[in-house]
Amino acid sequence: GRGAAMVTAVALRLAAQRREVEQLLAPLWLSRADLERVQALMRREMELGLGRESNADSSVRMLPTYVRGTPDGTERGEFLALDLGGTNFRVLVVRVAQDGIRMASEIYIIPTTVMQGTGEALFDHIIECIVDFQLKQNLMDQILPLGFTFSFPCQQLGLDKAVLLSWTKGFSASGCVGQDVVHLLREAAQRKQHLGLKVVAVVNDTVGTMMSCAYEDPKCEIGLIVGTGTNACYMEEMENVGTVEGEQGRMCINMEWGAFGDNGCLDDFFTNFDQLVDEKTINAGKQRFEKLISGMYLGEIVRHVLLALVEKQVLFRGKPCPKLQTRDIFQTKCLSTIETDGLALQKVRAILQDLELQASFEDSILVREVCQTVSLRAAQLCAAGLAAVVEKMRENRGLAQLAVTVGVDGTLYKMHPHFSQNLQKMLQDLAPNCTVTLLQSEDGSGKGAALVAAVACREAEP
Ligand code: BGC
Ligand code: MG
Repeated sequence: GRGAAMVTAVALRLAAQRREVEQLLAPLWLSRADLERVQALMRREMELGLGRESNADSSVRMLPTYVRGTPDGTERGEFLALDLGGTNFRVLVVRVAQDGIRMASEIYIIPTTVMQGTGEALFDHIIECIVDFQLKQNLMDQILPLGFTFSFPCQQLGLDKAVLLSWTKGFSASGCVGQDVVHLLREAAQRKQHLGLKVVAVVNDTVGTMMSCAYEDPKCEIGLIVGTGTNACYMEEMENVGTVEGEQGRMCINMEWGAFGDNGCLDDFFTNFDQLVDEKTINAGKQRFEKLISGMYLGEIVRHVLLALVEKQVLFRGKPCPKLQTRDIFQTKCLSTIETDGLALQKVRAILQDLELQASFEDSILVREVCQTVSLRAAQLCAAGLAAVVEKMRENRGLAQLAVTVGVDGTLYKMHPHFSQNLQKMLQDLAPNCTVTLLQSEDGSGKGAALVAAVACREAEP
């Protein structure tokens, strides 16, 4: 009768809506074959990046770090460390002793105006923070060697010479690209009449993370960051590093995999949502892999998917949502919260309400599905990249099986409820001949910079 007809009509409408949703999300779903292709492309870009002649053709820069080994536990001393380029800017004092590493630190804010102002202002600000820290810690009358964790792509010419290749992650301070950041820091110190600065090493955050985890676990020969940005480093055979003289031993390579795809090799995988996100960044066309994976961008991807769902009238009853037009309204930490297991849908609704989005329960379920889709893709792409790294290391060493540890840091990796499991699962699938342990680092950047500084100081001794 009439009742049955109505039920059928509702069922048909729901089925049609479901089809709309799936059509819209489908480009974000990656098949096993897609991920194998990403892995193979990463492997190719790695090889190109390592070659002397082919380096310029690769989107993955494969930068030498001049770090030739992981810590052996005999490192000692007291160091200052700076950590610039993640969620927080920090100044630290790190004591490396026989019974372990101890440290104290302060977080300082870098206002967006300073991140995007002049280089002088940025480095002056850094020196002011160092002075403040030294006063607070009573370190004014000591000259401690300083390790600088600087989490941007740099062409290193030695441990203490690092030319900035490009800014990433919302930084754009003028007059810095093409300059040695140690020199910029020393110049600022002179301007501020700070005479006690002794910079001995610049390290990428991936390298710091690897070093600090290797201090605990000698199998750790890879560093991974999934935070505001994303990147990895690993120990490569010197004979494969065409861009540095010498064939003996190994060197840590800062891959700068965030830029993977900037030469077009990943174009098949970018969706309309990714294009929209990329266009609105201050480095459009750059760091394309990073923009699929890292914390600075996932919320924006979700926001664009939600906008498209509203447009298709399958979310928020198709009602226009002015708030959803606002950039960065949907922060990556919202993803982490919304995806928390067992979180009542009522809570999801409340989060959306805070954003002035009137969500029904059906809407809440759909928003959660979008978050899951976007964060799963990020974890899987990260796994494909990492699979290329571990497989290369296994082949380098002529092993049938490789057991290796990855030191990992970054807010997204640490805060998201499923990212690490999704990453681990996909990695196992893509690199079955490698047993990979993911080791979360505690304060890796600071500790790692100190450990590299310790090695540098030891080597400088007669
Ligand atoms: C930078 C890398 C860094 C990564 C994680 C990227 O944007 O280019 O140098 O390691 O972010 O912080
Ligand atoms: Mg960091």
